[in-house]
Amino acid sequence: MKISPNHPRFRSLGTRERLVRGFQNGIVAPQGLIAHGRGEAFDYMLGETTPKSSRLATKAAVALLLRARNPVISINGNTAALVPRDIVRLARSVPAGLEVNLFHRSLARERRIASLLKRNGAELVHGVDERARVRIRGVASPRRDVDAQGIGDADVVLIPLEDGDRAEALTNAGKAVIAIDLNPMSRTSRAAAVTIVDNIIRAIPELLQITLTMKPLSMSRLGAIASKFDNETNLARAMKDMIHYMQGWAET
Ligand code: ATP
Repeated sequence: MKISPNHPRFRSLGTRERLVRGFQNGIVAPQGLIAHGRGEAFDYMLGETTPKSSRLATKAAVALLLRARNPVISINGNTAALVPRDIVRLARSVPAGLEVNLFHRSLARERRIASLLKRNGAELVHGVDERARVRIRGVASPRRDVDAQGIGDADVVLIPLEDGDRAEALTNAGKAVIAIDLNPMSRTSRAAAVTIVDNIIRAIPELLQITLTMKPLSMSRLGAIASKFDNETNLARAMKDMIHYMQGWAET
């Protein structure tokens, strides 16, 4: 459906359309559409804008990515459908690996996602070759099997739109986890070392831009930025950002 740019919910409706197209093309799982609805509800409480708390988290996330030995970005269907070009740009600029990792796994969908990423400039996409898998302990879903050279070997993993189990398991496996999740109360948000409470459609371009500005910083400066960040305190800030926005509505 063609949406008029004058529509007050132009961006949000456009995002839905991308997901529906992704679903029709076999990139997005039907459950992904429902998960997006949960995200939208929280985005409404942010006024669909990026709050200051999320910018702080983004800087800490970039510091972790730039300092990492082997940073990897985990890709699911919704991420691939919503931000294919910017996620590949981010991976190239860090540089970080890309790995397809699906909750509702099928080889056909993995292949479609990998080829979408390649059409958007990715060279190597992990997670499609069955033989290269190792198991992450403590995950019940098919997401437990990861690429030995990708997430299996990563010290920092960026997990946009994750499930709580795997976020906890990756943390328990000693990896620094960066989450992007609009729900500051989810298990994913609480298990991560750094959580960016923002919509992925704004968070990835912001991560990309801040990566380009922070790239010249020294390792010790990046280390200081990362260690100053406290995720629990920042999640509380994100909740206050939402309450503040809602209070604005309540008082009008
Ligand atoms: P958990 O297991 O971590 O408690 P959950 O069961 O809520 O999380 P899912 O049902 O897998 O997790 O939902 C996906 C999560 O992704 C939700 O928390 C939702 O807020 C978030 N989400 C959905 N769409 C977006 C988006 N576009 N940007 C950022 N976050 C999103």
